[in-house]
Amino acid sequence: MSVSYTPMLEQYREIKKNHPQEILFFRLGDFYEMFFDDAELASRELEITLTSREGGQNTRVPMCGIPYHAAEPYLSKLISKGYKIAICEQMEDPKQVKGLVRREVIKIITPGTVLSENLLPDQNNNFLAVISEDANILYLAAADISTGECLWSSFSGPDRQSSLCDQLFRLMPSELVLTGRINDFAGLESFMDNRMPNCTVTTLKIDDVSLVQLLPEKHFAKDDLPEKGGAYHTVGYLLYYLNQTVKNDLSHINRLVRYNAAEHLVLDAATLRNLEITRNMRDGSKKDTVYSVLDFTKTAMGGRLLRKWLEYPLLQAQDIIFRQDAITSLLENPLLRQSLHAALADIYDFERILTRIEVGTANARDLIALKNSLSSLPRIKKGLADISSHLLKTTGANIRIHQDVVNLIENAIVDTPPFSVREGGLIKEGYDFELDELRNIARDSKRWIQDLEMKEREATGIKSMKIGYNKVFGYYLEVTHTHAAAVPAHYIRKQTLANAERYITPELKEFETKVLGAQEKIVSIEYHLFSTVREYIKERIQEIQHTARQVAQIDVLTSLSEAAARYNYVRPVINNRREIVIRDGRHPVVERLLFKEMFVPNDTLLNHGDSEIMIITGPNMAGKSTYMRQVAVLALLAQIGSFIPAREASFCPVDRIFTRVGASDDLATGQSTFMVEMNEVAQILKHATQNSLIILDEIGRGTSTFDGMSIAKAVIEYIKTRIKAKTLFATHYHELTELAESHSGVQNYSVAVKERGNDVIFLRRIIPGGADKSYGIHVAQLAGLPKKVIERAQEILHELEQHQAINETKEATCQTAASHSEALSLFTSSLVEELAAIDVMTITPLEAINILYRLQNQAKQEAGQL
Ligand code: ATP
Repeated sequence: MSVSYTPMLEQYREIKKNHPQEILFFRLGDFYEMFFDDAELASRELEITLTSREGGQNTRVPMCGIPYHAAEPYLSKLISKGYKIAICEQMEDPKQVKGLVRREVIKIITPGTVLSENLLPDQNNNFLAVISEDANILYLAAADISTGECLWSSFSGPDRQSSLCDQLFRLMPSELVLTGRINDFAGLESFMDNRMPNCTVTTLKIDDVSLVQLLPEKHFAKDDLPEKGGAYHTVGYLLYYLNQTVKNDLSHINRLVRYNAAEHLVLDAATLRNLEITRNMRDGSKKDTVYSVLDFTKTAMGGRLLRKWLEYPLLQAQDIIFRQDAITSLLENPLLRQSLHAALADIYDFERILTRIEVGTANARDLIALKNSLSSLPRIKKGLADISSHLLKTTGANIRIHQDVVNLIENAIVDTPPFSVREGGLIKEGYDFELDELRNIARDSKRWIQDLEMKEREATGIKSMKIGYNKVFGYYLEVTHTHAAAVPAHYIRKQTLANAERYITPELKEFETKVLGAQEKIVSIEYHLFSTVREYIKERIQEIQHTARQVAQIDVLTSLSEAAARYNYVRPVINNRREIVIRDGRHPVVERLLFKEMFVPNDTLLNHGDSEIMIITGPNMAGKSTYMRQVAVLALLAQIGSFIPAREASFCPVDRIFTRVGASDDLATGQSTFMVEMNEVAQILKHATQNSLIILDEIGRGTSTFDGMSIAKAVIEYIKTRIKAKTLFATHYHELTELAESHSGVQNYSVAVKERGNDVIFLRRIIPGGADKSYGIHVAQLAGLPKKVIERAQEILHELEQHQAINETKEATCQTAASHSEALSLFTSSLVEELAAIDVMTITPLEAINILYRLQNQAKQEAGQL
């Protein structure tokens, strides 16, 4: 039997029907209420009391609620847990309506579409991504609506899925929208579980296909749009989803950029992660990453851009050199650097302010922040006017100072406005005549009445006349009956008392209306004026966004020059000789983390002549991984145009950097560590070219020694003979050092250590030649393994070494015996041959004696040698 609920709950159920994926925040007076399953879920997640409400026909339904004015922290909690929330408001004033008020969902807040400052990740991008597939091509479109950025890319060929995952890893969207058109992409789920566990997945339902067709053209210039087809539709799905959730035009999303892998140095997700470029492996934060070392940016826009530069390094030498020139100019001019830093420090995240202006949530404080930010621009522009760097000069010239916007805000908005825009106190004195008058009236009403009283007394000669006020009749001029004859004709009688008459004049009436409505009016005029200012700026969002991008670029270049100056970095030469030469290179992060020790710099030479592959052996903990990562990180830094920690260096840009480093933690994918390792190696061997840089750290370790060693050796041989990529290969298999003898271009290096008694001192120096010892037990001791285990390990090692030594002696003896018997058999066969050749019947006795003598001598000699 179906229950019939109260009309309000029926209304709730009707609305909820359209929002099955969201928690419905249903506005009831001063509260957002949740009912039924939503109430149970929200009370659990938000730790608020679950109550119940009369649902009709003696049923009670679960309910919980939060005050609407304090909803933000609750929203924030739910969003961070990946929930989506539909905000349903009362669309009519309950005081004006009898019965049920009309309610509508005015927006849906999801992790990828949040706009409120408190809900957004500090300064990082907050991307929403949509993926779809069409004719075996995968498409991705993504937008950060808090900044207005929007991009798309396509992926084809057999590796399209992994390339798409790499791009997702860079964007790290907080929400991924699936269009239900993707075939056979099982890897996506495990990739998301492992690498993007905080990303919410949404399935898009399209009710209005024509909007999907229409929206891209509405937002973007024709030239920026892909041709109609898969990519176009994916951008359409993205805009459609935004349209359905944010329920706003979002016209600040007006620039569509195509990300094309071929235009950048390709870094796959594993490499970005292994090298800890923008996120560390521990918790995915920026702590102890390359990004954190280089980040001296002062603006949020700059911070976001630096991240992008690191994730999408350049390929073209000229583009790299432009950035290097900019850093050189700033290094040569510390005063300018300082003044740019000071000017940039006054700039707020105005990309996000522009978004709030677009959606109408910006308050007066936002406008002041925008004004202060824009006011810094002339200083920046002036500083860059005479700079020698082409890049800085043009970027500076591209900054517009938006004086009209600055002036408008300066004239209209008070310097320290309140948070709310609905309670007045926002607009400056002198900005609007009517407002000033109203404020004067409100402020000066008492004095105005006294003045009027005086004026009327003088004009009429009635000295006892007074002005009064009551709630029913409002303001009046009161004249006693004795002076009735002196009352001027324009006085209008309002009320008669026992001994006096009360009048009103047009002037007093006008004053009354002004005063009584003044406060209310002040608030509404202020809001109106504020909205007009906001609208004025809204019309100019696109050009201010353009300026924001220039500011971001200047901020990043200043930041890189600051890092170069502080940490003593040098400008690498960009060569076209296909070689990498580093003198005294350092790892930018490790050198910052060392306190007790000094970082030991090392050299690198990689070319396509005698040093194509470096095989690095050396004890555990010696610094092999650090060294190899250092080479990769420095190559990457060189390709973002940054200076690098080294004494001098020269790089030829590489097309991809591959890393296979350390044990993988992809167990959740259902693959063993060894399988994951082999998968990664397979990918590298498939994609690397002769222009790539490959870092292989200890491959083949997760299986038996012989298997592992054979694989490792075969991989190096394959790279050497087929791929010919510059490669660094660290290994504990000392046997691999033999490869240097059989293959030219393979060089052995090791990390130097010094033994002192039982102690091992790591010198951290990469030196030519292979190593022959691992010192694993020593490292285990350092790591704090129980003494008993260490002692036993030493015993076992000793036994093994002795065993090996005995085996080796036996082998040697056997070998000697073998060679003896070989020699003996040679001698014997020559003896037999000679004896057989003698014709005993024809030789003389003397000849026979001579032969016997010679053979005996020969036999004696052989015996002596043996
Ligand atoms: P394993 O073979 O056990 O993986 P490894 O040889 O790869 O060890 P790393 O992990 O590179 O060794 O280095 C171990 C530690 O040595 C690092 O954490 C770092 O603190 C320090 N280290 C590495 N290189 C240097 C250096 N050049 N100068 C100073 N300290 C260094």
